[in-house]
Amino acid sequence: MAQQRAQAKKEAEKVGGGGSAGLKSRTESKIGLSCEVCKAAFQSVKMKQQLKDHYMAKHQAQGKTFNDCFPGEVMI
Ligand SMILES: [Zn+2]
Repeated sequence: MAQQRAQAKKEAEKVGGGGSAGLKSRTESKIGLSCEVCKAAFQSVKMKQQLKDHYMAKHQAQGKTFNDCFPGEVMI
């Protein structure tokens, strides 16, 4: 007397071979920027008006160039 209970295997879950391709999102957004001359910190490199104001207010009279303060940045 053997009761064979057929176990219905429901493999409804198809494991799709989805290789999780790493999203290489280069976030080149700098969090902050600091003046190379006086090390004053600025919140964002996008606030170029602040950089300009800072340079003109503090360093222009010193004979510094804008790039002395913020290398790689362009004065607007
Ligand atoms: Zn400065």
